[in-house]
Amino acid sequence: MTTTFATKTYKNFINNEWIDASSDKTITSISPADREPVGYVQSSTEDDLNKAVEAAHNVKKEWRRLGQSARGQILFKAANILEENLNEIAETMTREMGKTLPEAKGETARGIAILRYYAGEGMRKEGDVIPSSDKDALMLTKRTPLGVVGVITPWNFPVAIPIWKMAPALVYGNTIVWKPATEGAVTAAKVMECLAKAGFPAGVVNFITGSGSVIGQGLIDHPLLNAITFTGSENVGQGVAKSASARGIKYQLEMGGKNPVIVTKDANIDQAVEAVISGGFRSSGQKCTASSRVVVESAVYEEFKQKLVEEAGKITVGNGLEEGIWMGPCASESQFNTVTEYIEKGKQEGAKLAHGGEVLTGGVYDKGFFVTPAIFEDVTADMAIAQEEIFGPVIALIKAADLEEAIDVANNTKYGLSASIFTSNINSILEFIDEIEVGLVRINAESAGVELQAPFGGMKASSSGSREQGEAAKEFFTAIKTVFIKGS
Ligand code: NDP
Repeated sequence: MTTTFATKTYKNFINNEWIDASSDKTITSISPADREPVGYVQSSTEDDLNKAVEAAHNVKKEWRRLGQSARGQILFKAANILEENLNEIAETMTREMGKTLPEAKGETARGIAILRYYAGEGMRKEGDVIPSSDKDALMLTKRTPLGVVGVITPWNFPVAIPIWKMAPALVYGNTIVWKPATEGAVTAAKVMECLAKAGFPAGVVNFITGSGSVIGQGLIDHPLLNAITFTGSENVGQGVAKSASARGIKYQLEMGGKNPVIVTKDANIDQAVEAVISGGFRSSGQKCTASSRVVVESAVYEEFKQKLVEEAGKITVGNGLEEGIWMGPCASESQFNTVTEYIEKGKQEGAKLAHGGEVLTGGVYDKGFFVTPAIFEDVTADMAIAQEEIFGPVIALIKAADLEEAIDVANNTKYGLSASIFTSNINSILEFIDEIEVGLVRINAESAGVELQAPFGGMKASSSGSREQGEAAKEFFTAIKTVFIKGS
């Protein structure tokens, strides 16, 4: 299938103008399916960054004073414009980061739904009335924006993640400087093109591309920045936390996961297999909530494994633009290298490939970064493939004697984002809810796929603790003023 849009150069969007970076340099974004260019984005400098942050700073009072309801109306408009451009955005995403077209369309639709959810927030409450011990007084809380928020986003959900950060930030009255991942920057620019038409006052939403170490770090360190929200690797996230806390600004981090799925002896095995295939291999396993460890009770281990391998064998791998393709390539050469290195490491550690893990070559595969979905068996909880986030289509099968051991294995990583259990036993469900150390607890459901109106986030090294999405996002993007009013 050929794409319906042109390969072009995208500019930064600062103070409601599309402008070139002062470096006069661009970065080429290539498709992981065929290494052809998808587009070009600006290689920005600190000067460009200063302009973006200053623009956001200068308009913050005007944006706050506009009021929540009017801000929500602009988000409604942005949602409609995004909807008109859904197909083009989805195609760009598939070209740029490899996920299949239906997945890319689903993600774009999710972005639109998030915009509408937060547009609706424009009409909801900004605080609470609290009874005062003084009968002549009125005591209340009022939410107030933080100011300029830096938004640093990854490439794996280049539409949904930026929108689930920017939509609440904006409706609660903050202005924004958005630095997308370089590998997803063309898709991000397409989203920005839609936001640019929605009617935000100049400076409210600014978009700047460039390297993480220059523009990302420069953004966090900028003296006019009031808060930072970040999704990406644990390593960079820890640096964000250090820089932000040294400056005393609020930060929000969503980082990795090594999400376990427990399959008990009384599980519906077919249901568990379907969820593990989807949770482990959709988006080529490049989700922070991907199911990367499956801990199976010994009594059903063989049956589960055989069915899982059989289903994995049906997965078609190829260019996500083609019909009938279930799984696309790894998103980039560096992701491909990471995945293939972990597959080798798994073998060296003594795990056995029960399925896949081969690099696809020949014909259309030669130009892209294609690996077949890998299922390792004989994995022990201490192996690197059971401990470290691979961010690729690799599942580690681990055997456990009973539920208690399975939960111990599931908790035995530094991460704590999402976890599933498949069981028909209510006692096992209750034990799992209490004992599992994650932010997203899923019962008879895959580890990925949390709904947008519910809080999203993790425990331990997965997250800084604050929650994104739903009403919970308000906690990060606002401060509370406690107001005490007495007549005179
Ligand atoms: P990074 O953490 O490097 O990138 C995430 C974002 O941070 C990008 O916008 C990046 O910009 C930016 N960035 C990079 N360095 C800095 C810095 N020093 N200061 C501020 N911002 C910076 O993740 P990668 O894209 O390299 O992916 C590596 C691994 O991270 C994956 O394999 C996966 O394990 C994990 N990851 C987890 C995600 C999640 O959803 N939790 C999402 C993506 C990755 P630029 O792109 O220009 O480098």
